[in-house]
Amino acid sequence: MQRPFRRKPIRPPSQQVPAVAACPEATPGGKSAKKPGRQPGAPGHSRELTLPVTETILHAPTQCILCGLGLGVDAFKAGTGLYVLELLAGDGPGLKGLAVRHDKHLYGDGTCACGHVTRTEPGRCPDEPMWKVGLSEWSLVGPMLTSFIVFLSLRMRLSRQNTQEFLNDWLGVYLSTATINRCVHEAGRAVEPLEAPLAEEAGQASLAHADETPWKEWGKLLWLWVISTATVSLYLIGYRSAELITNALGEDFAGWLMTDGYKVYRQFQKRLRCWAHLLRKAKGLQESLTGEAKQFGDECHALLEELMAAVYQAREGPPSSLAERYRDRLEAFRLLCERHLDSQHEKTRALAFEFLNDWDAVWIVLSHPYLPLTNNEAERALRHWVILRRISQGTRTEQGSRALALLVSVIETCRKRKQPPWPYLAKVIAERRKGNPAPPMPAPA
Ligand SMILES: [Zn+2]
Repeated sequence: MQRPFRRKPIRPPSQQVPAVAACPEATPGGKSAKKPGRQPGAPGHSRELTLPVTETILHAPTQCILCGLGLGVDAFKAGTGLYVLELLAGDGPGLKGLAVRHDKHLYGDGTCACGHVTRTEPGRCPDEPMWKVGLSEWSLVGPMLTSFIVFLSLRMRLSRQNTQEFLNDWLGVYLSTATINRCVHEAGRAVEPLEAPLAEEAGQASLAHADETPWKEWGKLLWLWVISTATVSLYLIGYRSAELITNALGEDFAGWLMTDGYKVYRQFQKRLRCWAHLLRKAKGLQESLTGEAKQFGDECHALLEELMAAVYQAREGPPSSLAERYRDRLEAFRLLCERHLDSQHEKTRALAFEFLNDWDAVWIVLSHPYLPLTNNEAERALRHWVILRRISQGTRTEQGSRALALLVSVIETCRKRKQPPWPYLAKVIAERRKGNPAPPMPAPA
């Protein structure tokens, strides 16, 4: 049974406010004399009062666990009742849009002819010390509604309060902000087992982009990292350390790694430097008032522009060794950089040093012109989350940071694979709540 949208929470019949006409306090004009808002003694918003029950679902045991005899529904005695709000996201027969159902799940005992009592109960995932949030079917919020809350809070970047308002005003579902927060953390915990396979897959890529941006966790400065490959977007929140990136990609990472000039990346052998960063710095020098800086900036900029055009051309045409063709040109540029190592102008000195220090990583693309010239891929992968950081001021707890990075990895990897993340996330939550393994990430469409 599907329900239309409800703008306000609906009370069960016993608690419904009498219709105005039947109300003794109603004035002849048809207007109630009651003050607007909640009446003294009237129930406030709470979980039981959001929606009437759509369906009662019996979880009766079908078989005696002792003797294996089949058990009928008449052998069932309900013990525990559990109310679950679940979202139907356009997947019902003829249903378009969103609707909510409110089911009552009954668990209990089935008594066998052999005398043994077989009990059913909601599923649960055993406690894990790292997570303070539970992961079980003992939840008011169904898997798809949980997935939807993750969508509102991460993709739509709504605060907990705004998420609450949206659910209440458009779906007639009232949840406390604490429940909404718990849903996001629970979803993060549910997808945690997917992280290791994603890191494993990223570690085997022939090309990865990496980048990092500051992240605040209750005032503490951390970094949000992304590792982006053709099929994986892996996000991590942690310190700006070499270990973090090595742990994620593996010490024996054999692919190309495109990065900015940050030193933690230097340990990787097949490193590529983003030319967009270098071009920006060259442009900065070109705008300098110091003659020496301006001239060095001009030379860097002109060389990068020329070589960039050559790389694009090489991609189109037959294979040719740009490294060979530009060897003398680069040798002259190396001497130029060396001459500026003791420049009085700080940024000139720094850029000259940067070129020399990362020489091979900068120019290796001339031998492999099919490799990327910029780290735009990783920068794009961070952009949405940088805006989330600005709106939300980051995360508040370690568990919040962990949940966020895990969920973002799954969501962005699904998007990269052209697979809808939300039904998949709901499926993972549903299985993990039963104590089952997480279904594997969908393959690229
Ligand atoms: Zn039995």
